[in-house]
Amino acid sequence: MQSSCIFCKIIAGEIPSATIYEDGDFKVIMDISPAAKGHAIILPKKHSANLFDLDNETAEKALLVARKVAVAMQTELNCDGINLLQNNGEAAGQTVFHFHIHLIPRYNGDPVQI
Ligand code: 5GP
Ligand code: ZN
Repeated sequence: MQSSCIFCKIIAGEIPSATIYEDGDFKVIMDISPAAKGHAIILPKKHSANLFDLDNETAEKALLVARKVAVAMQTELNCDGINLLQNNGEAAGQTVFHFHIHLIPRYNGDPVQI
């Protein structure tokens, strides 16, 4: 845990979040400022700043979690598609420096800009 990291605080339960999935290694929460209804973010419990800093085991598991949650999301929300988005570095739009993957439900013709 990195004490200054907001996602580490969420994972530790120090800051509340709407959790939709949790296992030993990951927590998946609703984004506080959703790009679309149902926008969720996958957080590994182990802190890494971003993809450059991520270990291989967590990287592999993260995609499996993304697939699991995306399938459930598609079933629950009946959305037409889902964007996976993952920003690395300020230049790429990263604002929270704890690796995470966005899951953004999409509907045919929706106006969402990502
Ligand atoms: P990034 O821009 O780093 O790829 O994404 C960071 C995401 O974290 C943003 O979509 C932002 O809305 C979300 N976020 C920032 N602070 C919080 C928070 O305290 N709680 C939750 N649930 N999401 C947050
Ligand atoms: Zn962290």
